Amino acid sequence: MMTAQQLDRIRQESMDHFGFGPRAMARIKVCTRCGTMSPSDRRFCRACGKRLPRDTLFQLYKSRHKSCPACETVVATAARYCPQCGTALTPGQGAAR
Ligand SMILES: [Zn+2]
Ligand SMILES: [Zn+2]
Repeated sequence: MMTAQQLDRIRQESMDHFGFGPRAMARIKVCTRCGTMSPSDRRFCRACGKRLPRDTLFQLYKSRHKSCPACETVVATAARYCPQCGTALTPGQGAAR
């Protein structure tokens, strides 16, 4: 029987594999005009040429979701422990900054 934490870990690893885990998201920026995703080292949108925001997709995501204070993994709002490093999370914390 797998625990919720193990499932979270697997989910996260597959997200990384498929390109939407924290590590992959930190390499992506999204154009605020057309929504096209570009590599984070690009300064301008590859589709429409608009200047890309400073924040990566991961930073954007993190600002809207709860994240682990120790390792910065984005976690489910209801999570009590970080699935990545096991740090106890304060209930209701996150989405503050
Ligand atoms: Zn664009
Ligand atoms: Zn953590």
